[in-house]
Amino acid sequence: MYTAPFTYHAPTTLRAAVRLLRAHPGEARPLAGGMSLVPAMRLRLAQPEYLVDLGHIAELAGIEAVDGGIAIGAMTAHRDVERSRLLARRLPLLAHVAGTVGDRQVRNRGTLGGSLAHADPAADLPAAVLALEGVLHTAGAGRARRIPAHRFFLDPYTTALGESELLTRVVFPAQPRRTGWGYEKLENHASRFAVVGVAALVNVGRGGECTRVRIAVTGAGPVAYRARAAERALAGRPLTAQAIARAARAAGRGVEFLADAHGSAAYREHLVAVLSERALRAAIARTGVSL
Ligand code: FAD
Repeated sequence: MYTAPFTYHAPTTLRAAVRLLRAHPGEARPLAGGMSLVPAMRLRLAQPEYLVDLGHIAELAGIEAVDGGIAIGAMTAHRDVERSRLLARRLPLLAHVAGTVGDRQVRNRGTLGGSLAHADPAADLPAAVLALEGVLHTAGAGRARRIPAHRFFLDPYTTALGESELLTRVVFPAQPRRTGWGYEKLENHASRFAVVGVAALVNVGRGGECTRVRIAVTGAGPVAYRARAAERALAGRPLTAQAIARAARAAGRGVEFLADAHGSAAYREHLVAVLSERALRAAIARTGVSL
């Protein structure tokens, strides 16, 4: 199907983009890679009267080291995240997860900011950004804001972004030395979206105990989330098979599981436990500790 008619704008500065969005509240939408917005427009699920293409705003793209951490512009394509040497060294979980998104065409067009702002409950990147404790920087709603990832995803396709507010970049704190990471997903074979995906980061102390753990889950419920009950079950404890299995079982605690053509609620609950255990084991193995 064809889209409803719209007016296309291609501003070259963030300021001009924000001005356009504020001039047409509720009628203008930012366009990033178009991988989700354009299909929605063709199905007439979205009918913006104005499209504000962010693709010509140089300040919105790129990956750089800042204050000990890493900043990634909202318009950075998944493929650039996947192939970045800096990220391979500093945030390998993020580079790996970007590489699991869709196919090469989708990764060439789709952007980090577009994926996070779209907040598809089955998207991969929210799990990585939650586990890595990314902070989402915004512009447009008066004061620029910094929103921690765990406060950003509110409901399916709904985020903490206000109307006319743009996601500008995501800033990640440095990871402690020798952080092990894992990402495990059962993917939808047609799209590669996650039926369930689990990201894990683990640090191990000299005595073999877990000194720090971050677990985040996507695909299971209405929004991606940090599995804090699972983290509490493992932090500070010896990394035994039993402790890992107990933590993995806790990763689905309190979740309102989705049920759809790809899996029932019970199946997703089972997947969360299985994939959490695998992600934790992969993360521990990458620290060099064998169980
Ligand atoms: P767009 O489609 O341009 O925009 C999406 C939404 O975000 C729109 O509402 C737009 O207005 C808003 N938006 C965009 N940028 C900003 C911004 N900076 N500030 C505020 N709002 C903004 N994803 C996965 O995670 N895993 C997969 O396996 C996967 N497989 C896919 C397979 C196919 C065939 C396709 C078409 C998509 C797939 N995707 C997958 C989604 C893909 O990752 C895109 O990244 C995602 O659809 C949105 O990114 P985009 O840059 O294309 O955003």
